[in-house]
Amino acid sequence: MIKEGQHLFVEGRGPVVPYQGKYAVKVPDVFERVRARWAAAGVDTSAPYLPMRIEMELTTKCNDACPSCGMGALPLADGRTLTDGQISFLLRQFTAIGLPSIAITGGEPFTAPRALLRLISQARTAGIDISKLTTNGVWGTARRCGPEFERLEKAGFFGNALFVPLLMLSIGEQTTPLEDVARIIHHAVTHYSDRELNVAVSSLADPARRDHRMDALLAVYEAAYGAFPHERVHSTMRVYLVNERLEDQAAVHRPGTTPVAKWMDHCFDCFAPTVGAYVLPTSLLKQDGCWFSCAAFNVPDQLSFGNLLREPARTVLARANESAYVARVRAGGGLKALHGVVPAEFTQHTPCTSFCDSCALLIGQHDKATGETTGHPTTAVIPAHALLTRTRAAQTDGTPR
Ligand code: SF4
Ligand code: SF4
Repeated sequence: MIKEGQHLFVEGRGPVVPYQGKYAVKVPDVFERVRARWAAAGVDTSAPYLPMRIEMELTTKCNDACPSCGMGALPLADGRTLTDGQISFLLRQFTAIGLPSIAITGGEPFTAPRALLRLISQARTAGIDISKLTTNGVWGTARRCGPEFERLEKAGFFGNALFVPLLMLSIGEQTTPLEDVARIIHHAVTHYSDRELNVAVSSLADPARRDHRMDALLAVYEAAYGAFPHERVHSTMRVYLVNERLEDQAAVHRPGTTPVAKWMDHCFDCFAPTVGAYVLPTSLLKQDGCWFSCAAFNVPDQLSFGNLLREPARTVLARANESAYVARVRAGGGLKALHGVVPAEFTQHTPCTSFCDSCALLIGQHDKATGETTGHPTTAVIPAHALLTRTRAAQTDGTPR
């Protein structure tokens, strides 16, 4: 399988080679084209932070219930899906900031099939690429697999201008039978070339055991279809990060021994325009409209800069660009930029478990040292977890709903 991180193309650091990497592009002048798009939308192209992609939570509904879900997914009866009106509204917002691409995630997008196809076809009409579609493969049954691919094709999933679309299959704690995941992979690689579709398997593992299901998937695939198409499938094999997104979900803790300073020194520049191995900068848009300036698994709350269902995208983007933290990290090429701002006493003696954990700690220290406030108090339109809590309280105390 193709390992994560290969074929990294960062703006201003050498030529871009098309059709290389998990997030392959179709043209070598992708950055020039994207900058022209931003300029045509009237966006200040010298701003420190301009998203190449917004990762959209189409729905919070999921048919599965993974114990370490980092997506804030809810049961089918409780989750919420973007309405037709919200989808159209958001796409107009994206156009107003010259956004080149979206990624579609959930919850499970295929539990909201009508909204999914509507989003794809309207994004196509708006000239916005679909860079990634993440799924647990619930639709990989013998009855659904072929027809779902046909529906995706009809909606325009394969019609991107800049990016080869990526189908990301998650098999970490998901309960989708591996036979169904294998069927989707087989259909993908036998019907579409790597110029039309990329395929990836994400097998995030439980940190307590650190095992994953990739080997089991390979065995199931080979029993059904013969040799596994290693040259076509990208792999993402990691352990789950700390997760405290939903109160019902137990946080998973990994004891950290690496000091913040070390994470800073090896940090990737998350805000530099990048394609190939990753698409950066990437934003996260929650189903309730909250917008974050990165789409990390556990993005720090302070990187929320507004709500796109309440405010114009240009206002929210301007706010992100006014953030001293974002500007410093961008100007200094990553978290190492904060060495002169956050005291070494803190960075060298505070351990944590990941780049993004160190980022969250550094934001707090940065704001303390500079007197600045990173982020914006963002009001969710209807916070689903609050609704659930209220509903449960009402059910137990008899308050009418
Ligand atoms: S399938 Fe994905 S969205 Fe659904 S519960 Fe599992 S991790 Fe969360
Ligand atoms: S280091 Fe910070 S900005 Fe970069 S991906 Fe992690 S949380 Fe986001």
